[in-house]
Amino acid sequence: MTEPAASGPADLIIMGCTALVHDSAEGVGFAEDAAIVVRDGVIADVTTTDGVARLDAVERVDARGQAALPGLINCHTHSPMVALRGIAEDLPVEEWFNDYVWPIESNLSERDVELGARLACAEMIRGGVTTFADHYFAMDTVADVVADTGLRANLGQAYFSSQGPEGRAASLDFALRHRGTADGRVTTCLAPHAPYTVDDADLAATAELAREHGLLVHLHAAESRAQTEHSLARHGATPIEILHRTGLLDVDVLIAHGTGIVDRDLPVLAGAGGRVGIASAPRGYLKFAWDPTPVRDLAGIGIPVGLATDGAASNNSLDVWEAMALTALVQKSTTGDPRWLTSRQALHHATLQSARAVGLGDRIGSIAVGRRADLILVDLTGPHTQPVHDLAATLVHSARSGDVRTTIVDGRVLMRDRELLTVDVAAVVRELGERLPALVERGHGKRIQEYDA
Ligand SMILES: [Zn+2]
Repeated sequence: MTEPAASGPADLIIMGCTALVHDSAEGVGFAEDAAIVVRDGVIADVTTTDGVARLDAVERVDARGQAALPGLINCHTHSPMVALRGIAEDLPVEEWFNDYVWPIESNLSERDVELGARLACAEMIRGGVTTFADHYFAMDTVADVVADTGLRANLGQAYFSSQGPEGRAASLDFALRHRGTADGRVTTCLAPHAPYTVDDADLAATAELAREHGLLVHLHAAESRAQTEHSLARHGATPIEILHRTGLLDVDVLIAHGTGIVDRDLPVLAGAGGRVGIASAPRGYLKFAWDPTPVRDLAGIGIPVGLATDGAASNNSLDVWEAMALTALVQKSTTGDPRWLTSRQALHHATLQSARAVGLGDRIGSIAVGRRADLILVDLTGPHTQPVHDLAATLVHSARSGDVRTTIVDGRVLMRDRELLTVDVAAVVRELGERLPALVERGHGKRIQEYDA
């Protein structure tokens, strides 16, 4: 709460809002009648509305009646899969992969990936997501879309061992060419698909590359209890133990799902030499009838659990707001404890824990001086959010992603009063619609991979 050091007009001032702030113990709190000053894409000051009365700004947003939050972070998705939203419903995961998703993905063109990514970015901006961790194919195309649409992203080119060493080499090549692009908004990772599609030698080589180049590794692991049981039967080790023995827990790793993490995995994770984060996407687990991510066990060993949606082919939406509400509800239901996973804890998962999980814990996830200016403004005036007795509960259990009015990344407004400024949704939907019959064709009998986990 200091006077801004820089002179001259600020780039952006948001004033009159209630700002979500973290105290020194990372407790979630709210600053009333707050003002946020942005210069050069960074939060330069967090003060009061009175404190900015005489400060000039290029753009000034009067946010009375709104809450300012750190932008939401989608810690694990496959953004172009929005093109397959609803294509394979009410199925177990084996049939979902083998009969629908992997045959259809053998048809994918770069143009399909681009249109899907654009639609996904539009959906995420509308839902208050400012950063996403994406794991897919043709990622050069996704990187271009991120640059265009103004979002922040951690991107990884996915690979299977069935591609040979070229898959891993292409993932590294992508990561090195794109890291730091889009004015620093793009960070990158190595992206092996999962321990059941990437063999131990390939995982170990990936860990070596991650160490050598200082890259995050983002992969699926322990997606379900059934996978953990199969892994034990086949390899005598859980998926988490495989990550450990191949060196992947000695580098920074983002693990998607972890619903199959079992008690014997906890000391292994606690002893990891690298920074481990878990991405949890509860809607998909409910649909596949999987257990939830063991959030309370992971909290007990200090592992951050970030919020995610996975791809829209399983999750049907990229709504991180919903992932936040479901995390709170599913945790209460499965632990049998109404005191576990309070609204403030859910907001901590949505902010600092998600930022850490995607390797950006020092840059985003908090409204604080020096952090990137990734901010959302949430309308609290609707009948479903009034009156406000407990703002944390209002945000988690009453507000919806549709209440996000304004989305800002690096100080740039990407949505103002619900109007998207960087994506032409109608044009994307029109062209994608023309391409869908060819994309979803499955008569060719090909698939990019076999699910047998
Ligand atoms: Zn996934």
